Amino acid sequence: MPQKKFIGAHVSAAGGVQNAPGNAAAIGATAFALFTKNQKQWRAKPLTDENIDNFKTNCQKHGFKPEQILPHDSYLINLGHPEEEGLKKSRAAFLDEMQRCEQLGITMLNFHPGSHLKKISEEECLQRIAASVNMALDQTENVIAVIENTAGQGTNLGYRFEHLARIIELVEDKSRVGVCIDTCHGWAAGYDFASPEGYEKLWDDFDQIVGLKYLKGMHLNDAKKDAGSRVDRHAPLGKGFIGEEGFIRLMKDPRLDGIPMILETPEPDIWDQEVAWLQSHL
Ligand SMILES: [Zn+2]
Ligand SMILES: [Zn+2]
Repeated sequence: MPQKKFIGAHVSAAGGVQNAPGNAAAIGATAFALFTKNQKQWRAKPLTDENIDNFKTNCQKHGFKPEQILPHDSYLINLGHPEEEGLKKSRAAFLDEMQRCEQLGITMLNFHPGSHLKKISEEECLQRIAASVNMALDQTENVIAVIENTAGQGTNLGYRFEHLARIIELVEDKSRVGVCIDTCHGWAAGYDFASPEGYEKLWDDFDQIVGLKYLKGMHLNDAKKDAGSRVDRHAPLGKGFIGEEGFIRLMKDPRLDGIPMILETPEPDIWDQEVAWLQSHL
């Protein structure tokens, strides 16, 4: 029987992107996230043919198809930057990341929408983000830009489903835009992933405001801070406010089949156990 849920973690690509699939397989994962370049630096060496060939070979060897891989872009990028220079730099870096995905045969790139830095309005910032996405999509062919919901820390946008919907509304090619929902970020932004009623309501709202067809991935993190804190602190599964029941509910939800579900929990040493625990509740 084909597996319905793809579960993994954001694994290390130290030594080269080609090492990520093996690192994912080693923890029993059926999905993974990675950085295709050093996430803390603007500039990156181009991928070599060897990197690319080995990445593809290793994905094949360990059974990872494009729909099971959700790379994350650099944290430096702000596609809604209020200032010209920062915006230009971010757009160039984002395009580079989209192109790296294309080279690797990866079909999605997960990114945090952007921050207004208190210099422009939320709406202006959302418009900038959408324009940035449109530019990147124009210059690439097969990669879907996957917007992640945020905790709403500082001036980060993307903490309301309405923000995600507004960006999608302004993106020209709707077939190449999607959303990744991070449970910890959602919780911190006030979406109730813990109670059965809250859970049903939040997906009803999501479907109405954004649309379930745009859901392309999830980040599975428990939350260290209380609901609505707008503070992003990931906890191991079952060790935070969302709790074990919340994640079991996610595993049983058929609306979430067929997308990569990625742990970004703070203890990589227990990722194998967290993956196995999630798999045991499918
Ligand atoms: Zn995340
Ligand atoms: Zn986070």
